[in-house]
Amino acid sequence: MIKKPIKFSGVGIHSGVVANVVIRPARAKGIFFKRVDLHDAELIPALWDNVQNTGLLSTSIGKSPNQVQTIEHFMAALFLCGIDSAIVEIDGPEFPILDGGAQQFIELISKNIDTKAKSKIKKIIVKKEIIATRQEIIKQMPVINRFALWIHGLKTGRKEDGFVKLSPESCGFLMDITLDYPDAVIGKQKFEFIFDMSASSKLKFKKHIAKCRTFGRLWEWEYLKKRGMGRGATPENVIVLMNGNEDWDKLKQSGYNDKDLKKLFKNHGAQTLTPLHYPDEFVRHKLIDALGDFYTSGGMIVGKLESYKGSHGLNNLVLKKLFSDPANYDIID
Ligand SMILES: [Zn+2]
Repeated sequence: MIKKPIKFSGVGIHSGVVANVVIRPARAKGIFFKRVDLHDAELIPALWDNVQNTGLLSTSIGKSPNQVQTIEHFMAALFLCGIDSAIVEIDGPEFPILDGGAQQFIELISKNIDTKAKSKIKKIIVKKEIIATRQEIIKQMPVINRFALWIHGLKTGRKEDGFVKLSPESCGFLMDITLDYPDAVIGKQKFEFIFDMSASSKLKFKKHIAKCRTFGRLWEWEYLKKRGMGRGATPENVIVLMNGNEDWDKLKQSGYNDKDLKKLFKNHGAQTLTPLHYPDEFVRHKLIDALGDFYTSGGMIVGKLESYKGSHGLNNLVLKKLFSDPANYDIID
């Protein structure tokens, strides 16, 4: 339980807009966001059916304009700290990114909680196997986007075979996450973690996963910046991938001259702009994303999560499918 209001500020990774946040203790059970900069905005319950767009590689809650973007790392921190009731006031459209992971959120929250009070996060027991596939996501896209993906697949050989699966498993929330990227520094990475609410699983998460950052390619970042996005990203809060000549060519096509490029590539040869915390920091970050996204279930998932080339969109789709039929789950309050 939160003892007293927790205040902090920071820039949003996509919007670059600074937001002030106050986490207030609440009597009602549940996590609620409140946009205090909007007149009379309603509370937004942080639940899967309010997750609106996951298009910007982040999870947003609520309907525009009463919406808060990029909540996933913060949700993971709330879950890890056992917070099951709070009103989170924010005066802007996007949650601060802070360190790019969940560590700073965890530090801020854990200083202000009553550690003696037992966490009452409910358990959501998965009773049947539920799967959500990338192909289902693609089917929902406009024709033009589907066509662009098809062309991209032909050019790069990328397969749209990602999926996220939930199945019964009694030991806790067993997360089995696999990434497969063409970038040499990432490649194929796999990580398994059992979260069971025990002090030892929390400690493991805090020590070895919480600080792992999100990631993106240099040319994509430069491309986004030119279009008014990725404005709060820095090489400290994002792992920026450098793919040598390929990046150089793509940046040149988007209007950079050789002088600018030489400046950008002064670390040319390094694969990332800042050193990695772990060689598999990428897949460890996906654990933070999964923990946060699955906390929009309103509780702790008791079951096995298999995520292969997963995404925020797939995490949300599998939750929608899980809750579409009461025979799929049990809730233990
Ligand atoms: Zn993330």
